[in-house]
Amino acid sequence: MISLVNLGVALLIGVVVWRLCLWFLRAMAAAPGQPDPESVVEAYQDYRCTLCGTELTVRMASVSETSPPRHCREEMVAVWRPETSG
Ligand SMILES: [Zn+2]
Repeated sequence: MISLVNLGVALLIGVVVWRLCLWFLRAMAAAPGQPDPESVVEAYQDYRCTLCGTELTVRMASVSETSPPRHCREEMVAVWRPETSG
């Protein structure tokens, strides 16, 4: 036989779990803020993913973030390319 106390505790736990799920989803869905324009500098660096071969060029880089970008859950390696002028 289910008592009213058990029912109340079950409902309370359910509400708490529901609230936590909503809070977590909202935190995950929140868009990150705009970067500070003074903490971003121009850059020109190519990176390659060693797992799948994807390459990208970084044109602007944050001065506070010095680690290379990640792809396939691995850090990409910097690719040096001589300037192709003319
Ligand atoms: Zn990759």
